[in-house]
Amino acid sequence: MIDWLKNGLKLLSSKQRHQHKYSGESAPSAGSSSNHRKHRAARNATSDLSRQSKKVEEYLADAKIVTRGEHSISREHIDDNALKVLYRLHKAGFHACLVGGAVRDLLLAKTPKDFDVATNATPEQVKDLFRNCRLIGRRFRLAHVHFGRQIIEVATYRTNHDHTQSGSVDESGRIVRDNVYGGIDDDVWRRDFTANALYYDIANFSIIDFVGGLEDIRQRQLKMIGDAQIRYREDPVRMLRAIRFAAKLDFSIEEKSRTPIYELGSLLQDIPPARLYEEVLKLFHSGHALKSFEALNEYDLLHYLFPAAAQAIKDDPQHLRLLQLAMKNTDDRICNNMRVTPAFLFAALLWAPVAKRAEEINEKGMPYSVAIQKAATAVMSQQVKSISIPRRFTSTMRDIWGLQTRFHYRKGRRAQAVLEHPKFRAAYDFLCLRAQSGEAVADESEWWTQFQQQSSSNTSAVSESSDGKASDSKSSGRRRRRKPRSQNHSSNQTSDD
Ligand code: ATP
Ligand code: MG
Repeated sequence: MIDWLKNGLKLLSSKQRHQHKYSGESAPSAGSSSNHRKHRAARNATSDLSRQSKKVEEYLADAKIVTRGEHSISREHIDDNALKVLYRLHKAGFHACLVGGAVRDLLLAKTPKDFDVATNATPEQVKDLFRNCRLIGRRFRLAHVHFGRQIIEVATYRTNHDHTQSGSVDESGRIVRDNVYGGIDDDVWRRDFTANALYYDIANFSIIDFVGGLEDIRQRQLKMIGDAQIRYREDPVRMLRAIRFAAKLDFSIEEKSRTPIYELGSLLQDIPPARLYEEVLKLFHSGHALKSFEALNEYDLLHYLFPAAAQAIKDDPQHLRLLQLAMKNTDDRICNNMRVTPAFLFAALLWAPVAKRAEEINEKGMPYSVAIQKAATAVMSQQVKSISIPRRFTSTMRDIWGLQTRFHYRKGRRAQAVLEHPKFRAAYDFLCLRAQSGEAVADESEWWTQFQQQSSSNTSAVSESSDGKASDSKSSGRRRRRKPRSQNHSSNQTSDD
């Protein structure tokens, strides 16, 4: 969510930063001393109490209020720390709601990924209530309340920017100003889908629905709030979110929210590569990579995220198979609570272009093992223009690709060195995936499967000492072989992060 909030805020003017609908006072500045801040927040908190609660009622006039008896969300299913935050805000006289994905997921009887809170307290007021609170964002302030490693994000209600006001969006329609505090009835219109715009009010445990989100959840459909064209233009990442939620929740995307995606994909090119990296991870590492991947293809968005991969598929649709298998494998691992590494999926996504390029270089006389690294450099330097991939993963990707050129070693020290390479597991899994997808490496993958098995049984034979007892860990540990894996269980990924 933070990315969405921070999106395009670089152009904020300081004047805009200081508008504050509730108190009519300036929003607190980053540099204010903590005493001064406390003073001001305490004053606001007490003097505004009655006015705020009164206002909240007014703000809710247009909403459908679903009382506790009429919905299925029980506090038992809400995270304890989220409840603590909600209650403390409420007791201090603020309006505090659970919002977004948590409400949606609880209504669907799913476990929420995180619990976001929205309130009419300003970030400074939130900070004054929680010792374990940090404000983040220099220009756009959000409160993070820390409980060990868990963070409950508390956002102040903000108002939707005014499209008629010049300077709020750029020429392509992207939001460049988005920082004015508002009421809950403003805040709701800034959210993306109706299903994500429900508020669970801790004051009376009701659900506040301004936009028909409850009905859309019942109908299992994603509906963009407002004019979908405009909303995608404001923040093109919403197109990826539509795909992600449709895959995750098994929802359909309502017609009017779906059709603009076909035309607006190119807007993703303006999104910073680091943000796209985060979004792509959410798409592929949440347990529905295959569905998300198919939807990216359907809406022709892959092209803007992984141009080289999309081109390779276009040139030869056979390449799709490897990617589908890699996605499915990732989903299975997540479903079984196994770790996954982005390096493996990214290696799969870029394999076809890297292999093609390596062959071209190899034909000019360069050894294949060197050619593949040259090809990797060329393909990745193009890729990072769309999606930045952290260096620790690009280096694993190189290892995975590089080892593919060494799997033809079947004897002696060279084969042993391949087996002992730190990234052997990931590379071997990758080899099996290639074999499964129909590449002509079935022999190699079979051989390496058996080689590991032999290697492992040799090791256990050696480590069983002559008196029949297993040797101690000191003597067997140094050169311990990796566990063999049969090809039937192949394509597991090795996490290396
Ligand atoms: P999940 O956490 O399960 O991925 P979520 O809906 O909670 O899904 P978050 O990214 O945590 O998604 O954001 C929380 C809420 O913030 C959303 O439900 C939505 O109301 C709002 N939001 C987040 N990103 C955007 C965006 N790009 N445009 C509009 N609203 C957004
Ligand atoms: Mg969330």
